[in-house]
Amino acid sequence: MQLDGDHSNRQRARYFGQCAAMMQNVLRQDIDAGPLSEVTSVDLSVETEPGHEGIFDQALSNALAAIVAAEWPGEEADSRGRVHFARKLLKVIRDKIPRDPATGLCVIPDPHADIRSRWDLGAPLPDGFWDIRIDVDLLTHALDVSGLARHGSGTGRLQHRHVQALLALDHHPALGALGEAKSDHDLWQALDEDARSADQARSLIELIGDEEVRRRAASAENPNAYHPEHNPDGHTFEQCPVCGYETFCVEGRDMWGRVGIGQCVVCSYVRGSVVADQEGFGEHVAWLRGDD
Ligand SMILES: [Zn+2]
Repeated sequence: MQLDGDHSNRQRARYFGQCAAMMQNVLRQDIDAGPLSEVTSVDLSVETEPGHEGIFDQALSNALAAIVAAEWPGEEADSRGRVHFARKLLKVIRDKIPRDPATGLCVIPDPHADIRSRWDLGAPLPDGFWDIRIDVDLLTHALDVSGLARHGSGTGRLQHRHVQALLALDHHPALGALGEAKSDHDLWQALDEDARSADQARSLIELIGDEEVRRRAASAENPNAYHPEHNPDGHTFEQCPVCGYETFCVEGRDMWGRVGIGQCVVCSYVRGSVVADQEGFGEHVAWLRGDD
């Protein structure tokens, strides 16, 4: 499937937001867990708990692809349209932006500085607060560390400084996804609708009775069955999470291709795309972490 640029970048931002919010929680837990004496000064060399390297890499890859696609459209992918790995995207950024001689960082000036100076009058932030600072060297080092940790051959772990360099990317207007991931109104609404749909499906099952449910399941026909010629985009029935029969008609999949979007032809339960993405994200994270 070929996605248009805006759509891909929204997905990247969303995925980055969810992964980055998890990394932010890792920082908080580490700080909360430490003795009080260590909380007063932020020690950036503190190592994160192992097991988050995959999530870190995913967050970084998506953030860099979104930033490069927004700043230099087309440079995020090779000639065949495959998106570059994070290491290559960092090279693109380093080649495009001269380093700040004082800090060694690649800085994209805040594109909304004019508008912001008016908002911020009440509580002025330091000049350049919203500039996007990309620490190419540190993020490249983070990829080395997490790669070794993931392959079980490294001794070091991701440090707080690596996570902070990742979270700093959220200032880019193509992202700005961290806050959104934490108070995602669409998600709560979708979860609410999902719960209501499951409730209605259970009421229907009660109303018509087990016998009738079984009869319907036995004679159910899949309106979107796969057929190599007539319906190549079709899907076989999947198990319905409410009635338990293999009668869930799949119309599409979540963004990781793990969870079906559609409706059960027996109990009428509907799973929408937002809930499917959320469940798919959970499964995907479990997979990244190597849980089974
Ligand atoms: Zn069902």
